[in-house]
Amino acid sequence: MTKIGVLALQGAVAEHIRGIEKAGAEGVVVKRTEQLAELDGIILPGGESTTIGKLMRTYGFIEALREFSAAGKPIFGTCAGLIVIAKEITGQPEAHLELMDITVARNAFGRQRESFETDLPIKGIDENVRAVFIRAPLIEKVGPDVDVLATYDGQIVAARQGHLLAASFHPELTDDFRLHSYFLDMVKQSQA
Ligand code: GLN
Repeated sequence: MTKIGVLALQGAVAEHIRGIEKAGAEGVVVKRTEQLAELDGIILPGGESTTIGKLMRTYGFIEALREFSAAGKPIFGTCAGLIVIAKEITGQPEAHLELMDITVARNAFGRQRESFETDLPIKGIDENVRAVFIRAPLIEKVGPDVDVLATYDGQIVAARQGHLLAASFHPELTDDFRLHSYFLDMVKQSQA
């Protein structure tokens, strides 16, 4: 069975494991870099990106995940995970993994809109997906190889670059696991 990990240094882990299992793969809670070898893909969850980035440096995940990506294995960043996977973070001198050719702005929706839900059309998924935004980041800029999958209020909130997928919102907080299925399809394509 396809194995998809969830990076479990901080943040929303159990809900993603549930999503992966609903989509029909095995979910693995990942705490050590040695575990990456057994995985076919990995999800970087929401949480607090500065904390996750620090823990990733401490436990060797920056290099290990760059190698994972270089081997063509898919990575899906959600919310804080989207920040962690980005090449650039607006207003911060340093980014984290610097894998996906996107520039992200943290906490981009302002105070009145700290958290909200909406039905979002997503390219490649038939009907709207219920999207939960919590102190969500926005994708301000995308490079030429990045495909925009969803926008909200004219701003980019989901994108894909080959084997890399990113969403501003939390696909694991509803019972709609079609984005997990979408990612599982990416993982299967990467193995074909
Ligand atoms: N605002 C958080 C950050 O900047 C992300 C929020 C989330 O993951 N729900 O890291």
